[in-house]
Amino acid sequence: MLSLKFCGGARTVTGSCFFLQVGQKKVLIDCGMFQGGKALRMRNFLDFPFNPEEIEYLFLTHAHIDHSGLIPKLVKEGFRGDIYTTRATADLCRIMLPDSGHIQEAEAEWENRKARRAGLSETPPLYTVEDALASLQYFRGVNYDEIVTLSPELTFRLQNSGHILGSALLELWVTEEGRKKFVFTGDLGRERQFIICDPDVIEEADFLIMEATYGQRVHEAEGEKERLLAEVINSTLKRGGNIVVPSFAVGRTQELIYILNRLIDRGEIPPLPVYIDSPMAIKTTDLFIRHKECFDLEMRACLARGECPLHFPEANFTPTVQESRAINEVHGAMIISASGMCDAGRIKHHLKHNLWRPESTILFVGYQAEGTLGRRLLEGARHVTLFGEDIAVRARITSIQGFSAHADRDELLKWVGKFKQKPSQIILVHGETEALENMAALLGTKFQVHVYIPSYLEEISMMPMGRELEPSEEFSARFKAQQIINMWEESIADFSSLLFSYLEEEKDLDSLVALEERLGFIARQLEQETRGLKSLPLLFGPSRKEREEYSLEEENEQENLGEEAS
Ligand SMILES: [Zn+2]
Repeated sequence: MLSLKFCGGARTVTGSCFFLQVGQKKVLIDCGMFQGGKALRMRNFLDFPFNPEEIEYLFLTHAHIDHSGLIPKLVKEGFRGDIYTTRATADLCRIMLPDSGHIQEAEAEWENRKARRAGLSETPPLYTVEDALASLQYFRGVNYDEIVTLSPELTFRLQNSGHILGSALLELWVTEEGRKKFVFTGDLGRERQFIICDPDVIEEADFLIMEATYGQRVHEAEGEKERLLAEVINSTLKRGGNIVVPSFAVGRTQELIYILNRLIDRGEIPPLPVYIDSPMAIKTTDLFIRHKECFDLEMRACLARGECPLHFPEANFTPTVQESRAINEVHGAMIISASGMCDAGRIKHHLKHNLWRPESTILFVGYQAEGTLGRRLLEGARHVTLFGEDIAVRARITSIQGFSAHADRDELLKWVGKFKQKPSQIILVHGETEALENMAALLGTKFQVHVYIPSYLEEISMMPMGRELEPSEEFSARFKAQQIINMWEESIADFSSLLFSYLEEEKDLDSLVALEERLGFIARQLEQETRGLKSLPLLFGPSRKEREEYSLEEENEQENLGEEAS
């Protein structure tokens, strides 16, 4: 038996988790958290679609929470195997998983306070700091390029994926009716990224499981991001505002510090105060310096000269709450804070203090998933609710795509192009459906390979090899139904949080207008989606023909009844 089940990261960019069964061996590749809208986040609380006790090995591609965030839950629910990853990723997880446990506890407390007031029952956190700490004992750090044989069925090697510090591509050789090679890209980075090395080239695979976050987008040209960043900083300073940057604590923040340092050095921006206001970003920056094996030549050369590009005089690291609060009073500064999609952490305070100010700029430098506050801002929301308060959006909202740590459309194609022997099957994951479909079409025409896009919880048999994969009917139906259900869950969750904050806070006119707008939106959505809803039962029930026969029978019965009555 050789099968692969997509427990997350399928037709979405978060919750990466693949369950691979090789004969009697059961392994996982990543165990990530779902992030974004409420419907997606609810998946974190479901039972795992496998028995955690039976998993022998977990291969972790990198430390980002959407790839590692459910590891504490996995261990809490019985996993006792080995977690293989790079040493840098293992170190990053020592910071990130307990931090995530802390966020889970805080969120549960916030939800439970609301529940208690409404007389509803309380729910425990997804996992706690303690659970996260307990999970760390299962991590086994390995070096890049080291070939490790775990059993006669399983051999693996981690190569650099060039995405963030410690990120890896997984090459996995399995023996089940012959030897086959899987390659999981995890998140694939870009060439010539600052600080870290370029993605390694892979020359052959039977099955390539590849991310395609930017399957339909091309990033701005290299060098362009520095020019754009300087433009945003200089124009905001001229207006006397702040530049608020929601940034991922791991990777993006360090890249930003590196570039700001260069821009100040070259005189392209004035030496403005820069606040790095995220305890995790601060800890991570310190940890970066300890993993020189991950650095590119330029970074190594700097360090050899005794310079550290991640520290400069204008950079203020503010770990304490008091230091963070003091930033509320600053003008003409850059504030880099997490979370990168604005749904947690100190960034929410900085948004509250800057969104309403027309002189300030909110600069996005990372991917904003559907359903997040960051995405709503980017899509032009005029009002947002923060800490139960309705905030008018008057600041300049802008983004620079070139900061992405993900390969774009052309870079993905270029990377696949370097395979000497094309994979017999490419499976696209970690992207929203449109991006995946676009990439699938391009790969199919360019390389004449089979490309498949699996759905959430779909399980596919990898035998026999080289055949065209297609979803079962049940999966197609479930996928459509899930889309419609997700949309409604999002709308209702959105509306209920607005309503709760309206009822709990001052009942001001602005919030009432926001409520009315939201209701109007739901009404329009209802109108538009009625057709989709009507076709839903058809997906599961008898065929159209059977239904027509059935309704004819009914009509006949009605007529018969009519005759009897007359
Ligand atoms: Zn990532």
